[in-house]
Amino acid sequence: MPVYLDYAATTPVDPRVADLLGRHLTQEGIFGNPSSSTHHFGQRAARAIEVARAQVAGLLNADAREIVWTSGATESNNLALRGAMRAHRRQGRHLITGKTEHKAVLDVCRRLEQDGYSVTYLDPEPDGSIALERLAAALRPDTALVSLMHVNNETGVVQDLDAIGALTRSRGVLLHVDAAQSAGKLPIDLRACAIDLLSLSAHKLYGPKGVGALFVRQRPHRVRLEPLLYGGGQERGLRAGTLPTHQIVALGEACRIAQAEMGDDRARLQTLRERLWQGLAGSGAILNGHPEKHWPGILNVSFSGIAAEALLADLPEIALATGSACTSGTAEPSHVLRAMGCDAARARGAVRFSLGRFTTPAEIDYTLRAVCAAVARLRVLSPFCASDTADATRSIDWGAPASTTFEGRAGVLVDELWRSDGR
Ligand SMILES: *Cc1c(COP(=O)(O)O)cnc(C)c1O
Repeated sequence: MPVYLDYAATTPVDPRVADLLGRHLTQEGIFGNPSSSTHHFGQRAARAIEVARAQVAGLLNADAREIVWTSGATESNNLALRGAMRAHRRQGRHLITGKTEHKAVLDVCRRLEQDGYSVTYLDPEPDGSIALERLAAALRPDTALVSLMHVNNETGVVQDLDAIGALTRSRGVLLHVDAAQSAGKLPIDLRACAIDLLSLSAHKLYGPKGVGALFVRQRPHRVRLEPLLYGGGQERGLRAGTLPTHQIVALGEACRIAQAEMGDDRARLQTLRERLWQGLAGSGAILNGHPEKHWPGILNVSFSGIAAEALLADLPEIALATGSACTSGTAEPSHVLRAMGCDAARARGAVRFSLGRFTTPAEIDYTLRAVCAAVARLRVLSPFCASDTADATRSIDWGAPASTTFEGRAGVLVDELWRSDGR
């Protein structure tokens, strides 16, 4: 039975959302260009978009006028960081972020450095949290912006945004938050919390891919942004381009559902995560991340002496991740885990289980049985018989016919692990 435990990479669209999306495509539905304000078709589309804007704002306790549509969290992060740094360049050209951020923030920072801005990359604590004192010490008179994520996409570690916001606000520095993994999952109150810019993505909260939003604070002060795209002047000139009505109403509906069901979803995930963690810990897994400050939908663990790629290759029917989906496929161990101080072997052994709205207890039990069996098989390849991995693999009775490819791959990966560990 195929099991999907990669909700942090993307979520399936909720059927209620898909239904609404479909009704904004065809001639019978609301298909007009929302900028065509002179006729009924355009007006209906514009109204649907404003309903969605209020739904997104409602989820975040923001004002609808503070929501700008984008193509996803990557674009929201680009618009927030590049847009704010350029608009505030007279105030300062220094930006602070964390080493455990998503590439959609880190790569923007690299680009800003090439453009003459300076960036401080904060080290996390070993549990993945950003220490407030470390952030305070990094603030400079020319710091214009701090960008930190809410929930980390690899470890599920949650940052304390209230404390971070209080600090940045007191120093007159803007705060951007990448909330792609937390929006619709953890409560976010933008009237209470001093966040100036916040990115979210529909496909991480049971909406479609290709649409997202950026919260841009208008009260008590207006955050200025320089746009990335110029054109028809949509979104008050901040983001040109015909608005994709079907995508936007879907994001709005996804936010409405998330707000209504957040408490139940979270309680259910907490139970499933506990069941998964107890089972994995019994099999020798060690937790990567914070023991308490975590979102229950993401569990990241390492099995000592086992390469994550080998484990995943042995479990083709279960969708898991090593590192993050955006960087997997490269041989690089996760930048997040390395920043948290994990050695190369532990980082290469890290497996991310991410659960969501449609995960069942039966799926967790099936996964536990399969993972624990695979771990036991792979343990035979672990350091004890390392002097000759190839001989060791040959001497084992693998049983399953599919094991040939796995055998070869696992042998190579274990060798590689050892070399990188300096042995
Ligand atoms: C998925 C993700 C992104 C990228 O979002 P897209 O909508 O796919 O561009 C950015 N940041 C984090 C933390 C994410 O999890």
